[in-house]
Amino acid sequence: RAVAYLEPFMEAEEAGSAHAGRIVLATVKGDVHDIGKNIVGVVLQCNGYEVIDLGVMVPAAKILATAREMDADMIGLSGLITPSLDEMCHVAAEMEREGFRVPLLIGGATTSKVHTAVKIAPRYSGPTIYVTDASRSVAVVSGLMSDEQRAGLVETVKTDYDRLRANHAARGGAVQKTSLADARANRAVLDWSAAPPRPSFLGLKSFEDYPLGELVERIDWTPFFRTWELAGAYPRILEDPVLGESARNLFSDARLMLDRIVSEKLLRARAVIGFFPANREGDDDIALFTDETRRERLAVIHTLRQQGSKGAGRPNLALADFVAPPGVADYLGGFVVTAGIGVDALAKDFEARHDDYNSIMVKALADRLAEAFAERMHERVRREFWGYAPDEALDNAALIREAYRGIRPAPGYPACPDHTEKITLFRLLDAERRAGVILTEGCAMLPASSVSGFYFAHPEARYFGIGKIERDQVEDYARRKGQDLATTERWLSPILAYDSGR
Ligand code: SAH
Repeated sequence: RAVAYLEPFMEAEEAGSAHAGRIVLATVKGDVHDIGKNIVGVVLQCNGYEVIDLGVMVPAAKILATAREMDADMIGLSGLITPSLDEMCHVAAEMEREGFRVPLLIGGATTSKVHTAVKIAPRYSGPTIYVTDASRSVAVVSGLMSDEQRAGLVETVKTDYDRLRANHAARGGAVQKTSLADARANRAVLDWSAAPPRPSFLGLKSFEDYPLGELVERIDWTPFFRTWELAGAYPRILEDPVLGESARNLFSDARLMLDRIVSEKLLRARAVIGFFPANREGDDDIALFTDETRRERLAVIHTLRQQGSKGAGRPNLALADFVAPPGVADYLGGFVVTAGIGVDALAKDFEARHDDYNSIMVKALADRLAEAFAERMHERVRREFWGYAPDEALDNAALIREAYRGIRPAPGYPACPDHTEKITLFRLLDAERRAGVILTEGCAMLPASSVSGFYFAHPEARYFGIGKIERDQVEDYARRKGQDLATTERWLSPILAYDSGR
């Protein structure tokens, strides 16, 4: 607010040179996440930089045209989901093709220094720099704007990234992988002697306006502090000797805003869940059926299998291992929950009043409510809707520790890293109509404060990470999905153990 108030005076006084540098910021095409980018924008503006924030889902052409038109000193790209990594490579290549020279800054949750060095920087001959978080952004930007520091900074980064690329290349071949056939032979074999529990209903159930008050007590606050770059576990962080005071102030502001959101119904939560007769199909797929006769397929969920070499007694897992083979009447569930309906209007309202803090706050709280909703719905699924744990009584800490039976893996996360499986999930659940959530071309969910995934009930089902996978599996997976290899490799690029040459 102070910056907004002072800006006209600064401009009048310094006629034309009121800012220390001009930066175009954007969340890339296909991605809708902008909390981190917005924090960076505020921090830079408070340090005297002019920020042109293009918002979310911004195509490369628009970013470049704006940078050229506004004569920007640098471009900053942000993204949260893995498909954005690929889009950032595309923006870098476009900058090269159009002859740009200005620095390119990379940030966001799934980005990293290694990815920037190995995948993005080689596509652009201008400086390409990974920025860890908002607190680092000022040092990097001011270094790049300073005639004395620029050359040194660019050189240091270049040497560092050359080394990272060399390490990456050397390590590439060394990781031992198992063939897909051997990985399948080492699958997890679960005990199906007890009949799997039957859900209380089959088909879909929607929730049009879920009571927000019920979600508040299910919030996991630790990630909330991380969003604001305060690292530490809740509630301990409130007493931290260094961060405690900031954490307490932030927490009290958050609680006040949350009270307003709940009492004035400033956000709306919607959801759809569904249960379907299901069986493992082949080795790594899950067939969902229209009814209990299990004759007609409703959809097929494709899962990926770990291909790392495992020690004795450690299986190469795929989510399909957690569903019974044909002959046993098993089930699979799915869900889409959102707490983000109304958040954009609310955030824009605060922005119009130059209240960036509360604009970011409502988005951060909507994200927390969405995760809390996923947690609360999963709890009700176990206790009532699927009903296999009617007597479960876990407190919030135990829920956050995942001390319950069953899992709710989300496409795009480590056990099922392929975001495109969300397309099947959303169709199955009629999610757009029933929950008001859509998928972008990058398979990000809109509103951003949404969670989706599958429900698995088997007591041995657990979370894991797929890790890197080999060409034999990618070819097999592409065939099963009926999708061409190039497209499959593009979606799976963050987990390929080989260089696809694309
Ligand atoms: N309590 C945390 C939950 C974070 S995990 C919070 O409030 O932020 C977010 C979601 O990712 C979970 O709801 C679950 O659906 C999913 N998930 C977690 N680990 C996973 C894994 N290894 N594979 C797939 N999905 C996972």
